[in-house]
Amino acid sequence: MAKRDYYEVLGISKSASSEEIKKAYRKMAIKYHPDKNPNNPEAEEKFKEAAEAYEVLSNPDKRQRYDQFGHQGVSGNGGFGGGGMNMDDIFSQFGDIFGGGGFGSFFGGAGGGGGRRTRKGTNLRVKLKLSLAEVANGVEKKIKVKRHVVAGGVTFKNCSTCQGSGQIKKVVNTMLGQMVSASTCSVCGGSGQIVDKKPAEADARGLIIKEEVISINIPGGVAEGMQLSMSGKGNEIPGGIAGDLLIVIEEIEDKILQRDGNNVIYDLFISFVDAALGSSIEVPTIDGKVKIKIDPGTQSGKMLRLKGKGIKDINGYSKGDQLIMVNVWTPTQLSREERESLENLRESSNFKPDPGKSDKSFFDKMKEFF
Ligand SMILES: [Zn+2]
Repeated sequence: MAKRDYYEVLGISKSASSEEIKKAYRKMAIKYHPDKNPNNPEAEEKFKEAAEAYEVLSNPDKRQRYDQFGHQGVSGNGGFGGGGMNMDDIFSQFGDIFGGGGFGSFFGGAGGGGGRRTRKGTNLRVKLKLSLAEVANGVEKKIKVKRHVVAGGVTFKNCSTCQGSGQIKKVVNTMLGQMVSASTCSVCGGSGQIVDKKPAEADARGLIIKEEVISINIPGGVAEGMQLSMSGKGNEIPGGIAGDLLIVIEEIEDKILQRDGNNVIYDLFISFVDAALGSSIEVPTIDGKVKIKIDPGTQSGKMLRLKGKGIKDINGYSKGDQLIMVNVWTPTQLSREERESLENLRESSNFKPDPGKSDKSFFDKMKEFF
């Protein structure tokens, strides 16, 4: 069968960026994942085909050779000359697609499924509450987790039920002749290994529960509901690889500053004396207090911007801003003297509202700022 064009396989254009390639492959990998398509050879072919296409197009060197020479240019160079990639290669490739600083483990829970893939321990999921400052700048956090680990001194031997193959084959006589069915060995759970010797505190699988403190670097710019994945920090499984630790981000609502994407918004209230005469006022920011200048004649609804005082962008080096919404506070109680002095000002022409072109409406201002 003739090989399909790699760009066609992933459904992308020849000028696709590396991010687009990754995204397209992620979609394919989820759609045709063997766990979602058990006993479906067609899906498995598509899955492998997409993995191979990604393997080439995600590598600038190979991509260039492919662009120039087609399949000839890359066959035999990527370790998949004629036979395509094997499943273990594909799954190990997932590290940089789904985990390792990226977000979202799409294949949670215990491994298994196809029976061909390496067995994987279950994932652990923890919630992590972060303050706005931690979200904004990133933070190193220590997380206490209880995970299953293989106990020291445990030894394994081949499972006698399946002779170490991990699968039980049954020959069934049917009207159409003999059929062979294979199922995962229930004694060893498909690993082909069972516990030989183990310390008293370990369970039948040779596992103990261990409390560990794991330190994780949270990048700046994460948001509520995002999931970070640390591969291999989940539950261990005898004869397989450890599951992942999934960290689900929860934002603690800040009482003073409000997050809006990568910007933070602060509602500032000033007296109308400060608004009229001008002033210098301290405002809170994520990184502490900052003095700002209020110009004489400042109107209510004016927006001020503190550049770079917002939240780091998760995908880059830029930072959002802090937007300060100025509200002029009208006093609600007045002493007799205050009332009298204001009465004297009532008829002054300077106190009559006279909005000019520079006093944009609220909606115009919003347009300008967002
Ligand atoms: Zn077995």
